[in-house]
Amino acid sequence: NKITIAIDGYSSTGKSTIAKQLAKRLGYVYVDTGAMYRAVTLYAMQKDLIHESDFNVEALIYQLDKINITFKYNIDLGFAEVYLNGVNVEKRIRTLDVSGFVSKVAAVSDVRQKLVAIQQQMGQDKGVVMDGRDIGTVVFPDAELKLFMTSSAEKRAQRRFKELKDRGDDVLYEDVLKNVQERDFLDSNRKDSPLVKAKDAIEIDNSNLSLEEQFEKVLRLVRM
Ligand code: C5P
Repeated sequence: NKITIAIDGYSSTGKSTIAKQLAKRLGYVYVDTGAMYRAVTLYAMQKDLIHESDFNVEALIYQLDKINITFKYNIDLGFAEVYLNGVNVEKRIRTLDVSGFVSKVAAVSDVRQKLVAIQQQMGQDKGVVMDGRDIGTVVFPDAELKLFMTSSAEKRAQRRFKELKDRGDDVLYEDVLKNVQERDFLDSNRKDSPLVKAKDAIEIDNSNLSLEEQFEKVLRLVRM
């Protein structure tokens, strides 16, 4: 019997790595909800609605209907890539400039409403692993398995820094650490659907777990 698996937690805790692995092993669909908030942020940047200190929230809300977010499975990568109005933006949304604004965009209730509805639609048939910040609390409060991932801010920043370096981005570790901490603060303190551990979520601190150990642990939970 297929179930719904909700994976929430702080930035760069390795949610997507474990979610992808899990989806592959179980033959489930993986949905990266962070990619959707990132795609909306990219749209706002492209339309010049967001700058260093000012963000034209009204204009973004007004244009929300024009933002079409879809996923398309990439056989070589083994997961679905995100498309913004028909354009593959999977790479473009992972930059530090998008990361710098995304939590502000994600704090807008109209944006959340739109994306949560799409996510619920995508997960209506079970057999889904979805990762984000509010999956176990808001999107699928009835998910059969909820995980809440944590690890130290430094571990997380190191992980994200390595990812960005590996793809050739010229970034400073200090900036990545600052971004991770800033996003956690904004995500945890926003009014609408703040990042909190669902009461029935199982917390996994992977600061000192290898990927294999972590995967084994999660797989055991799925089979319980
Ligand atoms: O998961 P990822 O780090 O790519 O998410 C980027 C940002 O999108 C988060 O820092 C958060 O502000 C927002 N987000 C959210 N709710 C989700 C997924 C992501 O608010 N379900």
